[in-house]
Amino acid sequence: TELPSDANTQNSRRQVFEATHSYVDPKKPSNPKLVHASKEMANEIGLDEKDLESKEFLEIFSGTKVYPNTKPYAMAYAGHQFGNWAGQLGDGRAINLFEVEHQNKRWALQLKGAGETPYSRQGDGFAVLRSSIREYLCSEAMHHLGVPTTRALSLMLTGDEVLRDIMYNSNSSYEKGAVVCRVAPTFIRFGNFELFAARKDLANLRKLTNYTIKHFYPELGEPSKETYIQFFKEVTNRTLEMIIHWQRVGFVHGVMNTDNMSILGLTIDYGPYGWLEDFDFGWTPNTTDRQHKRYRFGNQPNIAFWNLTQLANALYPIIEEVEPLEQILYQYQADYDSQSLQMMRSKLGLKVEEKDDAKFIEELENCLLLSETDMTIFFRLLANYKIGSSDKGLELLSQAFYKLDEIKDKILDQWNSWFLTYDKRLKKETLSDEERKQDMNSVNPKYVLRNYMAQLAIEKADGGDYSLIDDFFQLLKMPYEEQPEYEKWFVKRPEWARFKVGCSM
Ligand code: AMP
Ligand code: MG
Ligand code: MG
Repeated sequence: TELPSDANTQNSRRQVFEATHSYVDPKKPSNPKLVHASKEMANEIGLDEKDLESKEFLEIFSGTKVYPNTKPYAMAYAGHQFGNWAGQLGDGRAINLFEVEHQNKRWALQLKGAGETPYSRQGDGFAVLRSSIREYLCSEAMHHLGVPTTRALSLMLTGDEVLRDIMYNSNSSYEKGAVVCRVAPTFIRFGNFELFAARKDLANLRKLTNYTIKHFYPELGEPSKETYIQFFKEVTNRTLEMIIHWQRVGFVHGVMNTDNMSILGLTIDYGPYGWLEDFDFGWTPNTTDRQHKRYRFGNQPNIAFWNLTQLANALYPIIEEVEPLEQILYQYQADYDSQSLQMMRSKLGLKVEEKDDAKFIEELENCLLLSETDMTIFFRLLANYKIGSSDKGLELLSQAFYKLDEIKDKILDQWNSWFLTYDKRLKKETLSDEERKQDMNSVNPKYVLRNYMAQLAIEKADGGDYSLIDDFFQLLKMPYEEQPEYEKWFVKRPEWARFKVGCSM
């Protein structure tokens, strides 16, 4: 890589005052075992299926051996966490192994959970099987949903035990340690820029910006203030695109701190994320955010804006003009409104633009919020709607409701009137029922990694059975396709899983 080389070389934890990164070797696991690997990701970096079973693959991606002539490192970054400046953070349990160029694409490979780094602070640098399964499955599932994301190459058990606190009762217990190899063109975050800005280290701020532009935004051209402004504009656009996708599929990140915002607009850091089951703007999977719900579903677009503002502040010293940065942020809000509306239209199968659409969509959201409605099932089944059948609308969707009786008691009229409007609205469209269904099914997934599904895969894997990990991995490769053999996963969350939430560590 071309990262600056003024790095710390000792593998102990501390405040790392000057460094941009620190060289760190992964901790050797005592008994590594491959749990799962992504053939799709392997192909992207030029490996084939049989490579995944090799001893070399096991050794390198479990952290047993360092690939010859490479020098693994952890990056320093800073960040705002839950709205507060947190100062220096850094890769506390991620170690960059090396980069691969294949078919004109560039990939950085990084182990998560391979032991402590100088940035580990109070953490141990390890990851447990539970959180690793969640990251592995979800990041590949997001990719197949068409959501910009970091990827995952492999999931390995280390054979070592990791001590973890159980959040609810302050007990500690040992869990199986695991390592995920995650992959992205780069793992640079907003927080990398914030670190140099906070240190008033303009030389490195400029170097990092130039590096990022040269390798990941080459179309922007040679470094200049104007290029930096365009760079911020591009990052803003990509971040917005990512957020629109999250809102479309019902993904709630859970920890949108600026150190968890990729400079490429990729979904990064799968911790306490969760999937909307019942449609609820106020829902967050993060148990440590239950009071303020800063990172709730409906607030993600605002938080992205807030985070982009922090990035603008960080870039300001090398741009030295406020107005263009403000203009871009202002445009984000306007673009969000129009793109969000467009996205909701697509979920409803609407191609024509009508001036009342925003109001019509709001009426739907009100119905959904009042009814405890499964988001995924609702939009998927809505594609089966046939023009002229508004009186049977609710019946068609009955499978999507958690409490159908209550709806029939309380807001039957509201739903019926919405279906009536929907019917009228569809008559202004030109597509046939069948064509509309195909369009809708390409934006409304049939299958997502429901929170309880991840939970089931984890429980089985804990007992040594990885079959459900593979099932879900295969299923979620084609989330928009009908897959009759997996129909049992197209179902509402079971009652036992109602208050189960994600986990972070
Ligand atoms: P996160 O909330 O996952 O984005 O983590 C925030 C910061 O804490 C990052 O700098 C992580 O690298 C660090 N961190 C999280 N978990 C651990 C761990 N088990 N050991 C060391 N550092 C960690
Ligand atoms: Mg993080
Ligand atoms: Mg994390």
